[in-house]
Amino acid sequence: MNITVAGTGYVGLVTAVCMAEKGNAVTCVDIDQGKVDLLNRGISPIYEPQLEDLMLKNRESLVFVSHYQEAYSNADVIIIAVGTPERKDGSANLQYINEVAKQIAKTVEKDCVVVVKSTVPIGTNDKIEKLIKENLQNPVTINVVSNPEFLAQGSAVKDTLEATRIVLGVESDNAEEVMKEMYKNFNIPFVVTDRHSAEMIKYAANDFLALKVSYINEIANLCEIVGANIEDVAKGMGMDPRIGNKFLQAGIGYGGSCFPKDTKALHWLANYNDYELKTIKATIEVNENQKIKLIKKARKYFTSLDGLTIAVLGLTFKPGTDDLREAPSLTNIPIMIEDGANVKVWDPVGIDNFKKIFKQTVNYSQSIEEALIDADICFIFTEWNQIKELELEKYKQLMKNPIIIDGRNCYSLKDVKKAGLTYESIGRRATVQQSLLRK
Ligand code: NAD
Repeated sequence: MNITVAGTGYVGLVTAVCMAEKGNAVTCVDIDQGKVDLLNRGISPIYEPQLEDLMLKNRESLVFVSHYQEAYSNADVIIIAVGTPERKDGSANLQYINEVAKQIAKTVEKDCVVVVKSTVPIGTNDKIEKLIKENLQNPVTINVVSNPEFLAQGSAVKDTLEATRIVLGVESDNAEEVMKEMYKNFNIPFVVTDRHSAEMIKYAANDFLALKVSYINEIANLCEIVGANIEDVAKGMGMDPRIGNKFLQAGIGYGGSCFPKDTKALHWLANYNDYELKTIKATIEVNENQKIKLIKKARKYFTSLDGLTIAVLGLTFKPGTDDLREAPSLTNIPIMIEDGANVKVWDPVGIDNFKKIFKQTVNYSQSIEEALIDADICFIFTEWNQIKELELEKYKQLMKNPIIIDGRNCYSLKDVKKAGLTYESIGRRATVQQSLLRK
């Protein structure tokens, strides 16, 4: 099949490369000339395990362009994977997807199926179909299909090639047939439904996972108050197959390009229709408070962060990605700087993106050890393996005060106690060297 993918971000590029791997000829179009230039040099503009290797393996079947005129005219299927970011009021910004719809309408020269992979509010696929049909320049038939994406950054290639399900929201038999043909080599079960339901499946699934995270974080907060251990609690809960053990890791809240905006967008949509989604409202509120928990914990040791050297380990919203969208590091580091701290940061892949969005002064460290030297306190925001595998003795050897405030529960309480560290984590008892407590 001739497939065109609009947008070469985390979803678009991964989809394109996997479609090429499954034997299709794929054209990728992106308005970002810088990304297209990198792609044409065989370099992936995003960090995602396996992606670059698979892209190089399939380079004969992949074309990258920045002009839409070349991209849409000859496609059997056009997959839209452009961003749908959050607007200030919480609703989804559909300007990019509307733009692609108009570009398709102007240039498409043969019958084709337009697949909306971007996460969009319920009813958007109908509007996209209408927009394309109203602006068509040639006498062709267009069917729009909702095919939401469930990949997770950090395992996106695997999640695409071995997805748990392919959701198809279709309004015509022909569109369903074309989609099944496109996915025929994937051997993944289909959930076929109407477009509104497919759009809702995506939001309902993402918001449920966010709800699970906020739920376990609230239980963790209560564990701290009543003296229970969240890891044991989560283990005991997760072994029940009705609950499952995924998304039960307590921490400083969810971030990334999906959960924050998708919870707000569904909440907005419900409000707009005079309905309040109370569970999602609470999910968002709990997450906002959770993000700043570590700074509150640090105040046990220092009234102010003024003049302190702070080591920050991990910048990205989770391990395995260079994405910083809505990462807790972006909420916390400005507070440290405003307080007058000298901040040293380390992240294995997130520093370039951090530099692009964060304009205040911080020191960039090449290694964890470099970040720890002479630090008064250390904050952990991302559970990278390099952090989890660090010898705990290093904190004691390198820091001025071995105070670790860990937002991701990277270490066992037994190990930190043995290493003689002062250690605060989420939902577990603190290990405190009394001499380090604020008088
Ligand atoms: P992204 O920001 O990484 O990439 C979007 C790309 O689209 C950018 O490269 C941008 O330059 C390009 N673009 C914008 N307008 C364009 C146009 N007119 N023509 C061609 N390209 C254009 O976004 P993403 O993270 O890949 O997310 C894309 C969509 O998929 C969103 O709706 C998101 O909610 C959804 N989604 C994302 C994930 C994820 O983990 N990132 C998972 C599932 C679903």
